[in-house]
Amino acid sequence: MSARAPADAKTVGSLAGWARTVLWDAGIENAVQEAQWLLAQALGLRSHELATGAERPLSSAEWSRARSLIARRAAREPLQYLLGMQEFCGLDFQVTPAVLIPRLETELLVQEVIRLGTLRPGSIVVDVGTGSGCVAVTVATILPDVRIVAVDRSPAALAVARANAAKHGVADKIEWLEGDLLAPLSEKGIGRVDVIVSNPPYIAEADWAGLQPEIRLFEPRMALVSGPQGTELHERLLREAQPFLLAGGLLMMEAGQGQASVVRRIAERAGGYGPLRTVEDAAGIERILIAPRLG
Ligand code: GLN
Repeated sequence: MSARAPADAKTVGSLAGWARTVLWDAGIENAVQEAQWLLAQALGLRSHELATGAERPLSSAEWSRARSLIARRAAREPLQYLLGMQEFCGLDFQVTPAVLIPRLETELLVQEVIRLGTLRPGSIVVDVGTGSGCVAVTVATILPDVRIVAVDRSPAALAVARANAAKHGVADKIEWLEGDLLAPLSEKGIGRVDVIVSNPPYIAEADWAGLQPEIRLFEPRMALVSGPQGTELHERLLREAQPFLLAGGLLMMEAGQGQASVVRRIAERAGGYGPLRTVEDAAGIERILIAPRLG
């Protein structure tokens, strides 16, 4: 891949053609669309203006901004980090390499929290490993009277999550705590809560090397990898959540393909939860495990 200016990259239109080819040659599946999004970003245009303004000449600053974004994408940097944004449950979330890019399947976790129908003003929902804040912020916008506590080990992630809360007008509805899983709750004296929700890291260490470069080279490993099995964090959450949950309170965790049944068995062996329920995603994969704490 050459990121040097082609001789004819003098107009928006010729730049667009060049960008498509570069991304295509780099093996980016959605090259046409991604070139459009990245150029719109680099040139400060809406995507249809790339076509209507195709004859417009480029300044050298525009050319170099566009070239840099296209070269970074060709080197497999995720589109969302380059655009600084990912949509989640219909809201735009700011994303930086300090946070996991929100995934479509995680919307299911939010849907399940919302449809519980048992949360009342003053109920407490804790989001463990909030990352970009996508779960906490979305729930806060839908259930504004519920108290939300969001925890993350990474101060850089918490800064992104706070910015997202501010962007969506729920900054004063969420309490942000830095620390490992539920440890900061004890420090703050937060006791019995209604729901603990988490999309924990769940990739097994051995699977890391096989991941696509966008994930392996750019997303935070700490947000993705849990240990040798992949289910270590689920196991810890089952153990550590129990003292913080009200009787009947729910631990709701996302899991990877094939993990829900493993986690369910761990929960059954550990005791203290029941009856357990799983929720399938659109692809028929058991994605969410819901564990009510026994009274
Ligand atoms: N809660 C965030 C999300 O679901 C971050 C999760 C994580 O970093 N493991 O996207």
